Amino acid sequence: MQLTIDLTGRDVLVTGSAHAARQAVRRYEAAGAVVHRLSAPDGADADGPLPERPFLVAAVDDGQPGWEPLLERCRKAGIPVASEPPAGESGHVSLVGGGPGALDLLTMGAVNALRDADVVFYDRLAPYAELAQLTSAEMVDVGKRPGHHKVAQCDIEKLMVDAAMAGKNVVRLKGGDPYVFGRGGEEVSACVQAGIPVRVISGVTSAISVPAAAGIPVTHREVSHMFTVVSGHAPLTEKEHTHLAGLGGTIVVLMGIGTLPQLAAGLRRAGMDPAMPMAVVERGYRPGQRTTIAELGTIETAAAGCTNPAVLVIGEVVRVAEANRNHTEATADLNLLAASLLEA
Ligand code: SAH
Repeated sequence: MQLTIDLTGRDVLVTGSAHAARQAVRRYEAAGAVVHRLSAPDGADADGPLPERPFLVAAVDDGQPGWEPLLERCRKAGIPVASEPPAGESGHVSLVGGGPGALDLLTMGAVNALRDADVVFYDRLAPYAELAQLTSAEMVDVGKRPGHHKVAQCDIEKLMVDAAMAGKNVVRLKGGDPYVFGRGGEEVSACVQAGIPVRVISGVTSAISVPAAAGIPVTHREVSHMFTVVSGHAPLTEKEHTHLAGLGGTIVVLMGIGTLPQLAAGLRRAGMDPAMPMAVVERGYRPGQRTTIAELGTIETAAAGCTNPAVLVIGEVVRVAEANRNHTEATADLNLLAASLLEA
């Protein structure tokens, strides 16, 4: 169960060793509480007088024996005792998939890793607007810096490794899934080479979720039984166009706005039907989400004004979304009709 209480100006006693309690301290401070600290059960280290009667005791399980009698005394005195997870082992890196940008598409693993982080290195595409609610870690934007220079990949890796070596819990937050065009593999290798423990927390990839945001299922019984995810970062070769056109399933393209004309022309040259439906879904799950639907033969003109980030979908499944939408609209029309009949 989760409970939200306004702690502004309230005395909170955080118990537990400095190392284990450091993130709990930051969380309570961020929540506006007046934080008092006790890092050893015998109270030997208390800096200054502790409040007679704190509003709450936040007990961090630091593995030291001897806390229980103190906590029991607090409970008996009617002071609520909340158990707090200790800051995890320090000096490691978690590569976290942040999903397509909607807070409710973050995994529990991502939420827990963010809670336990000392520093978060995030990119432009990671869902960062609401991160302040989820972490009290230092936030470092490595996707774009003032002056609009991206931080080079090797510098990002160095920042992560250095922070972990300095004993911090590092979260590398990436948009979507870290292993889908996210250079996650390189970042893992950099940590492994530096001897830093590293783990990967999968995320909801935009390759599937952004089409879904537009109502497009990437597979659909009797329509498409496979989907291929392609990077449009660089134009494809003629051979790749031929293979893709021959597959017959759904084609999902990330980073594809810049090379859309080459892709559409290449697939047509490779024999794909110019009437094949195609969708461009821009800014999935974000303000201004927009879907443009056209055909392979007309997409260049239809999508001329489309911008990144966007996911392209090529395949008959685009019609499923249209059919579902028309059905929803038809149902809405029927409801209107029924309402007007009732009124008459
Ligand atoms: N690792 C990411 C992809 C990184 S490549 C993932 O698994 O989703 C970046 C590309 O992802 C963008 O160019 C765009 O094609 C796509 N993308 C990510 N988030 C998106 C969003 N919210 N809306 C539309 N496209 C998105």
